[in-house]
Amino acid sequence: VQTVREPQVLPMTENDFGGHRRRIGILGGTFNPPHLGHLIIAEQVADQLGLERVFFMPDDTPPHVDHKDSIAASDRKQMVALSIENNPLFEMEKCEIERGGISYTYDSIKFLKERHPDYEIYFIIGGDMVAYLPKWHKIDQLVKMVHFVGVARHGYPKTSQYPLMWVDIPLIEISSTLIRQKLSQHCSIRYLVPPAVEKYIKERGLYND
Ligand code: ATP
Repeated sequence: VQTVREPQVLPMTENDFGGHRRRIGILGGTFNPPHLGHLIIAEQVADQLGLERVFFMPDDTPPHVDHKDSIAASDRKQMVALSIENNPLFEMEKCEIERGGISYTYDSIKFLKERHPDYEIYFIIGGDMVAYLPKWHKIDQLVKMVHFVGVARHGYPKTSQYPLMWVDIPLIEISSTLIRQKLSQHCSIRYLVPPAVEKYIKERGLYND
């Protein structure tokens, strides 16, 4: 039986019930590819909010995104699995890939709340995503179903039109876009992604053109 750690920081918003229910985190994304920024924010948020586990949830087809740079969902899923394999706090959540099609967070949260009825869900998003929240499918329902947790990102304001708690983490200027650019220019990605992800990308010749 796992015990719930008391959070070191408990930022309160009107949407934060601050109760004693067990907490899980979700980090949804395209993970094209996963990088150390993803791992750092998940670990830091888990530590600061006392999350029992963080589910990494790769999407199938993201809404509002240009898909031309994307690679197969199976490769993204495999790279996420390799990224999280050494951290007992982290788990893979495959529901979006298994469902297929456009991945609406609302559908996934509805499903996950049914599967984990005893948990409060903390949905982690970077500052770039916070700016897009007003465009999210069924956002008005979604904000009542999860606690949104924002992590600052370079170039984006720390403001939100929706209830959200910001967790303070040093700015990490690593993005999947940066990794793809580096690979296309045959530059090093060492120390920007987990070693197993670098190996996977190199062995399969992903992002080569
Ligand atoms: P891309 O550069 O292709 O847009 P990304 O680096 O933002 O990709 P995603 O898989 O889209 O990666 O990110 C998943 C989630 O993690 C998003 O909420 C995103 O804002 C957040 N995130 C990713 N990298 C960082 C970072 N360095 N700092 C804070 N949040 C981040």
